[in-house]
Amino acid sequence: MEDVVSTTSHPTEPVILIVDDDLPARMLMRASLQKGGFKVIEAQNGLEAINLFETEKPDAILMDVMMPELDGFGACRAIRSLDGGEHTPILMVTGLDDLESINRSYDSGATDFITKPINWAVLNYRVKYMLRASQAFFDVIDKQKKIQELAFFDHLTGLANRTLFRESLTDTITASLNEAKLVAVLFIDLDRFKTINDTLGHHVGDLVLKNVAERITATIRTSRIFDNSHRLIENYLSRPGGDEFIIMLPGLLDPEDSGRIAGRINDALATPFHIEGHEIFISSSIGISIYPLDGCDAEELMKHADLAMDHAKDKGRNGFQYFKKSLNIKARERLEFENDIRKAVSAEEFELYFQPQVNMADGSISGCEALTRWQHQTRGAVSPGQFIPIIEELGLVGSFTDWVIKAAGQHQKQWKDQGLNSINIAINVSSKQFVQQGIPEKISQVLQQHDLAPEFLELELTESVLAQQNTETFATLNRLKEMGLSISVDDFGTGYSSLVYLKTFPIDIVKIDRFFIKDICTSKQDASIVKAIVAMARSMKMRVIAEGIETLEQFEILRDMGCDIGQGYLFSKAVPADQFSKMLKSGQSLIPL
Ligand code: C2E
Ligand code: MG
Ligand code: MG
Repeated sequence: MEDVVSTTSHPTEPVILIVDDDLPARMLMRASLQKGGFKVIEAQNGLEAINLFETEKPDAILMDVMMPELDGFGACRAIRSLDGGEHTPILMVTGLDDLESINRSYDSGATDFITKPINWAVLNYRVKYMLRASQAFFDVIDKQKKIQELAFFDHLTGLANRTLFRESLTDTITASLNEAKLVAVLFIDLDRFKTINDTLGHHVGDLVLKNVAERITATIRTSRIFDNSHRLIENYLSRPGGDEFIIMLPGLLDPEDSGRIAGRINDALATPFHIEGHEIFISSSIGISIYPLDGCDAEELMKHADLAMDHAKDKGRNGFQYFKKSLNIKARERLEFENDIRKAVSAEEFELYFQPQVNMADGSISGCEALTRWQHQTRGAVSPGQFIPIIEELGLVGSFTDWVIKAAGQHQKQWKDQGLNSINIAINVSSKQFVQQGIPEKISQVLQQHDLAPEFLELELTESVLAQQNTETFATLNRLKEMGLSISVDDFGTGYSSLVYLKTFPIDIVKIDRFFIKDICTSKQDASIVKAIVAMARSMKMRVIAEGIETLEQFEILRDMGCDIGQGYLFSKAVPADQFSKMLKSGQSLIPL
């Protein structure tokens, strides 16, 4: 290659390969191009040009057509078939009026042509224009590639995204149509990943996801998973988003193989991750669906694997679950249930029942708790334990609470109109979005509308509201207190049971959860917990209500401990409003003799 002449120009300057068997022609071209700021290399025939192209990767080529060994047309064609040679600009140097050469150049894949004698003043511009055109071309290709990456790959892990996964799964299913093979889809969801993001930040969260992707990849690649016939099972991992991953396992003979792989993934994730000085524990829940047993297309298989994953989560995390038809039925039932609840909330199909709260000293009614009842046309009585969590999940808790407040106000007003003494009504307020609901405003509206006194309204909040300890909660509670309402902590003892918030917030009443009352006669521990709660509440000048009193024995123990008020089946279940007003009218003691 003694003919290669390198100049001392800057390495980023475009490199032009001149191919010509005529030395003076090469020298003239080189001089002209160097003046124009190009770096020049030279070859004296087509074969040399091909070799140089492969080693030097020039940015453009100036190629004479007539040369010994291999002419310009052959060299041009050959370069076009080389790696990287498809798009390199090639300028053919033809004789003036040599139409045949111009035509053959075109057919050989040349980019453009220039005629001899060369106009030296124009050559540089010709090359520059050609390079710019090719650069624009590469930019377009680059952009297309990027768009492709965005459309089909997850930028964090570099794995396929949902779209590409779905397409690949469709292809795989089509390919296995005529085989008696199964395709498994594993839907993996990390357990409690949100906590990592929330506590350690998104940066660490991202690193965890990358590490998880690597570990899953390593598990499915290196654990050499074989099916029953000892064939290596191919696999395909993708990240559809968030903390989810999906794997496709084609060519299975036995569905159980997919369960074995799921087990290995869980095992692999069990070793803690060490990221930026944190030791992080991860577990995952995996749902498995299998083609053709659980679905006949990609969409259905992915949906069913996802459903099975939900079920794996419900069963307790860190496990896997095969999709079963019954899961699908469950999901449909759940959807219908949700629809019924939506309707019930908008049509106000609920009714308030009232459970008396009783003075432990004399059995008189000191107040009541309003408990919502839902009698559905076909489902019958549905318990609040079933519908309240779904109302919360559906984001309907605002409208629902509005209805509870409104209904409680209406009943209070009815009793007042019936000449009964005003009585304390406690309503339950869901912890979800307690602050955002604008509860004080809604309550004062209802109170004004019915001309009711605020002292007779009490809000039961759960410990979780207070445990948030935020300033908005504090402000809302203070506002309610200023309005004259009472605040009670419901189910005390089951949640955070922290004294801190009892001190921080303006609480009037502590309701001891039924859980501690249940065994109070037999469990010394429960008895001493209740005693402690009563003593603590008293010292903080709060009243105590014991919930779920069912027996006389429980009643007596609690009364002797100094508990002020009791609520439970011993006195009465929650009853419809008219029945409750009868109870009020009769004025009888609710303590059975
Ligand atoms: P909670 O606020 O703790 O209400 C007390 C629950 O215990 C009621 O169940 C009541 O019927 C039941 N109960 C009362 N005495 C006894 C007893 O002696 N033995 C037993 N075994 N149970 C007793 P319910 O009505 O099924 O309500 C369950 C939960 O649903 C309530 O617990 C409350 O958290 C929620 N809830 C009910 N109505 C509403 C409402 O209008 N709004 C909101 N946000 N939640 C409500
Ligand atoms: Mg309650
Ligand atoms: Mg309670």
